[in-house]
Amino acid sequence: MQVDRSLSLHLIIVNPIDARSSSAFPVFFFFNDTATTEIYTSLFVGSVRLYKRQALGVAQRALDLAVDYAQQRVTFGKPIASRQAIKFKLADMEIRLQTARAQLFYNAQLIDKGIYDGMLGSVTKTCVSEMVFDVANQALQIFGGYGYSREYPVEKLLRDARIFSLFEGTNEIQRMIIGGTLVPKKRN
Ligand SMILES: Cc1cc2nc3c(=O)[nH]c(=O)nc-3n(C[C@H](O)[C@H](O)[C@H](O)COP(=O)(O)OP(=O)(O)OC[C@H]3O[C@@H](n4cnc5c(N)ncnc54)[C@H](O)[C@@H]3O)c2cc1C
Repeated sequence: MQVDRSLSLHLIIVNPIDARSSSAFPVFFFFNDTATTEIYTSLFVGSVRLYKRQALGVAQRALDLAVDYAQQRVTFGKPIASRQAIKFKLADMEIRLQTARAQLFYNAQLIDKGIYDGMLGSVTKTCVSEMVFDVANQALQIFGGYGYSREYPVEKLLRDARIFSLFEGTNEIQRMIIGGTLVPKKRN
């Protein structure tokens, strides 16, 4: 099965744990019954190290672009960066990004110590993926109408950001894991 078009990322689908594809990024893995704990664990670790760090990169780039643009764009005689409404937006983006980065590094440190905590992984995944979409979305807002144009980079960042709450387990499923851990089913 091959997927040629998507909102942003180029996809390929490969056979179970078979990465013979020619495309560099990203790869679909479909599991069969023979997938082992080691495989799941390595993908969990890879997920934290690769996909969620990508999300941080997308968000950081969106914030950096928004900070630059806000200082260049002049409306009503002043750069929009001088307006409190824009400064607060940039501040909120920074707060969300730093919080998600700290969460991700905490999770990565535990993994480095051999501690695999499923609920923490779900919390991290949800936190990082919702942060990146929000930061990219706010960056586009600061760019105004230009942000929506393909001539400027933030629309691409927003499309990139959208995937993180879908793949690697949707955020609905992550919330099911978190909620299910907090409120376990009664055993008969
Ligand atoms: C760019 C991209 C890359 C991907 N990379 C990989 C990869 O590397 N490896 C891989 O295995 N997969 C990958 N996927 C697949 C991805 O993990 C799935 O698309 C995702 O898990 C959602 O599954 P689905 O598309 O079948 O949606 P569905 O399962 O049909 O879900 C549709 C909606 O219903 C919600 N939903 C479903 N069931 C429930 C429930 N029980 N309770 C509440 N809400 C529910 C979902 O959260 C979602 O919002 C990728 C997908 C994309 C788009």
